[in-house]
Amino acid sequence: MIISIQVDINLLSNLQKDYPWPKPDHCPNCNNPKLWGHGFVDALLDCEKFPVPLKRYRCPNCGCVIKLKPKGYFNRFRATIDTIRKSITSLATTGKYISGIAYQRQYHWFTALIRHATARYTLSPNLIQVFEKLVAGGKIPVCRTI
Ligand SMILES: [Zn+2]
Repeated sequence: MIISIQVDINLLSNLQKDYPWPKPDHCPNCNNPKLWGHGFVDALLDCEKFPVPLKRYRCPNCGCVIKLKPKGYFNRFRATIDTIRKSITSLATTGKYISGIAYQRQYHWFTALIRHATARYTLSPNLIQVFEKLVAGGKIPVCRTI
């Protein structure tokens, strides 16, 4: 299970495993108030040259593993949601990729969004609205699986 929290990325990058991650006050799966540390998992973020360690906890009651991750990122995406939104908006309105991100990745996000949009809406949908609707619904509008 993944919990998004506010993270100071610069501080995390500096402190690495010493970053003061908060401990959830209960297991999100079974409400057990005791959680154990369960090491770290490295994550690549676009804003960092090297992977940063994300803290994990484990519930001794149900075995659930809880990973904390910075807010503002889709699961398994290293670009921020804002960056992906800018790319989608640029491609949908001007047909141009934004600078600083490989166009292949932006193409992937855009075509994945088109797949999501065409799977859900019959008339030619407004891609930016579809993006926002899916984000608001807790979905990842630019992942391959629909
Ligand atoms: Zn549990």
